[in-house]
Amino acid sequence: MELIIQDLNKTYANGVQALKDVSLTIKQGMFGLLGPNGAGKSSLMRTIATLQEADSGSITLGNINVLTQKEEVRKILGYLPQEFGVYPRVDAVTLLDHLAVLKGIKNKNERKQLVDALLHKTNLWQARNKNLGGYSGGMKQRFGIAQALIASPKLIIVDEPTAGLDPAERNRFLNLLSEIGENTIVILSTHIVEDVKELCTDMAIINKGQVLYKGSPMDAIAEIEGKVWKKRITKAELEHYRNSMNVISERLIAGSPEITVFQESKPDDGFHLTDADLEDVYFTHIFGSKKESVA
Ligand code: ADP
Repeated sequence: MELIIQDLNKTYANGVQALKDVSLTIKQGMFGLLGPNGAGKSSLMRTIATLQEADSGSITLGNINVLTQKEEVRKILGYLPQEFGVYPRVDAVTLLDHLAVLKGIKNKNERKQLVDALLHKTNLWQARNKNLGGYSGGMKQRFGIAQALIASPKLIIVDEPTAGLDPAERNRFLNLLSEIGENTIVILSTHIVEDVKELCTDMAIINKGQVLYKGSPMDAIAEIEGKVWKKRITKAELEHYRNSMNVISERLIAGSPEITVFQESKPDDGFHLTDADLEDVYFTHIFGSKKESVA
């Protein structure tokens, strides 16, 4: 099954165009949708999740027309929104059981088996009788995945799931996602480059409602290899470089700036070539002048 998005457009009532001719084909596995805050990720995720309308364009999931056959989509969709609220005074077993009833699983034994399996899968078994209000951020997110998995979804959408998780929780959460991605379409929407780098076989970079890159992270890196240059400079020189070169990122090392420039040839003597990574890809597309090479 594939999710095919074609020429999707959305302008909000306030005039903000959140999606501009977005076209993407998303296959089984982990797909990373990478972009800064305000890029349009949530708008796209909510549209795929049938929670808001597009102005024009089409989305199909296998044979289902996502924009018109909403009930059909909801049956095979698992959605973990950016702000996933839980009922604080309910425990995981009770809430999952209740949600399974709402999903139409009427048989009590069947529900128990499912809920137990989900609690094991998301590593929440030990905490199954604890009220959700006492869960850590990572546990809440894993609970969010457990609820998203109730209907054995074919498509799972997770919107900014790792923000606020500590490194260990983040790892556990991402491992869980990648396990699920073995036989489902998983769309991971994030502004965190590392999330995509570690897990996704396919990705898109989006900014200001437009798709700037689509392809594999490896191909994206290969495309800019040999064109990413770094130089340590003084703070006083920073403005000069910003104005005269295609600076894609800056960081301080022991108090002095190191700049990264995207350019075909060596910018000047002090620069050295570096191995490109996905972060350079991201900054090149977001801040560099590569728009003309958009696929
Ligand atoms: P992201 O998820 O990448 O942060 P969003 O899809 O939330 O991006 O937002 C894209 C743009 O649309 C932003 O400029 C945002 O302010 C605007 N936007 C999002 N939702 C609404 C809304 N309901 N009404 C008006 N503008 C919105």
